[in-house]
Amino acid sequence: MEIMEQESEEQLILLPEPEYPLSQVPDLGEDAGLYMEFMMKSPCYDAIPTSCKLVVFDTSLQIKKAFLALVANGVRAAPLWDSKTHSFVGMLTITDFINILHRYYKAPLVQIYELEEHKIETWREVYLQSSFKPLIYISPGDSLFHAVYSLIKNKIHRLPVMEPVSGNILHILTHKRLLKFVHLFGDALPRPRFMQRTIQELGIGTFRDIAIIQDMASVYSALEIFVERRVSALPVVNEAGRVVGLYSRFDVIHLAALKIYNNLDISVCDALRLRKQSLEGVLMCYPHETLEVVIDRIVREQVHRLVLVDEDHRPCGIVSLSDILQALVLTPAAHPRPCVLGVYLQLSPTPSPPVAP
Ligand code: ADP
Ligand code: ADP
Ligand code: AMP
Repeated sequence: MEIMEQESEEQLILLPEPEYPLSQVPDLGEDAGLYMEFMMKSPCYDAIPTSCKLVVFDTSLQIKKAFLALVANGVRAAPLWDSKTHSFVGMLTITDFINILHRYYKAPLVQIYELEEHKIETWREVYLQSSFKPLIYISPGDSLFHAVYSLIKNKIHRLPVMEPVSGNILHILTHKRLLKFVHLFGDALPRPRFMQRTIQELGIGTFRDIAIIQDMASVYSALEIFVERRVSALPVVNEAGRVVGLYSRFDVIHLAALKIYNNLDISVCDALRLRKQSLEGVLMCYPHETLEVVIDRIVREQVHRLVLVDEDHRPCGIVSLSDILQALVLTPAAHPRPCVLGVYLQLSPTPSPPVAP
C-alpha cells in the first residue's frame, strides 16, 4: 500500500511505507522535516567526491575474475556494461557472489564449476529469469531525497549516478555517503531537538525478530540466512547468547580474497579470524543512547549499522543506516506536519496536497 503521492511535471513520487507498523513510526516532533527539506534542496551532484575509483565490468567477463577484480581494486560493487547493447544493464555486488555460492556450493573442496566457468551474462540469464531488475540509477541533478528514496524503496545499497547526456556513470552513491553528507553539511542547520532523544524513545531501528548466527555455525548457514532474510549483517553470538562479533555481507568477499570459497563448512568465528584489516570487536549501542550519539558513532566508524544490545550484551535490535535515513528523510515526507506541508508546496510545480494514510 502506498501512503502518499506527490505529482510534479516530470514524475510521480510514491513514498515507500515504512517497514514498521504505523503506531511505531518515529515522531520526531516539530522540527521533523529539517533534513528532509535539506535533502530535497540538495542535488546528487553535491554528494559526489571530486575524485573516486569506478570499476566497470563487461558482462562477457568470467564471474570468478570479476569477484577477484572487486577484491584487487578494493571496491564493493561494479556497474555492468553490455557491449552488444552499448548500455549499462545492472550491477555486480557482493550479494551476487553470495547468491552464486549459495546456489552452487555442494560440499567442502568440491570445485564450484559455475563460479569457475560461467560468465556474468550466463549467470544473469539463469538467475535473473525469476527476478529481473534493470539498472536503477539517478541523474546528478536529481535530489538527494530522491536518492534516499530509491535506495530504500528498491532495497539496494548501490545507486549509480549517471550523466543523462553522455550516459557515463560518475559515482555510486551509498547510504554511508548520504548520511555522511547529512552529518557534514547538516551542521550548518539548526540542531533539531529530536537528536537528544533516545533510540528507544524514537523507535529508530529493528527491534523484533533479529537474524543472528551462532559463532560455531558454518559460513554456509550464514549465507542461507543472508539469502532467506535479505539482511545485510548478522550479529554473531556465543553459547550464552552474548554478541561476540558481526558477520556482514561484505565479509563474504574475504572468501574470494583468500580463495577459500570451496570450503563453506568453516565456522563463522574462523572466517572472522581469517579476515584481514577487520574492525576490532563489535560496534554496538544501547537503547538509552541518544540519536546524536548513535549517528556520531556510525559516521565515525564508517559502518552500515550498530548492534543494539542490553546490559548483558545480548542482541535486542539493529540500527542500520537505512533506518536512520528512513526516519530523518523519508518518514517526515510520508507523515507531514503542517510545517512540512509548506516544503511540498514550494517544491512541487503543480502541488497536490499529501493524502493522509
Ligand atoms: P550489496 O549490499 O551486497 O552491495 P545490494 O543490496 O546493493 O548488494 O544488491 C542486491 C541485489 O540488487 C544484487 O543482486 C545487485 O546486483 C542488485 N543491485 C544493486 N544495486 C543495483 C542497481 N543500482 N540497479 C540494479 N540492480 C542493483
Ligand atoms: P558496506 O560498506 O559494504 O556497507 P559494512 O559496513 O557492512 O560494509 O561492513 C564493512 C566492514 O565493517 C565488515 O568487515 C564488517 O564486518 C564491519 N562491520 C560493519 N558493521 C559492524 C559493527 N556494527 N561492528 C563491527 N564490525 C562491523
Ligand atoms: P540494511 O540492509 O542494513 O540497510 O537494513 C535494512 C533493514 O533490515 C533495516 O530496517 C534494518 O534494521 C534491518 N536489519 C538489518 N540487519 C538485520 C538483522 N540481522 N536482523 C533483523 N533486521 C535487520
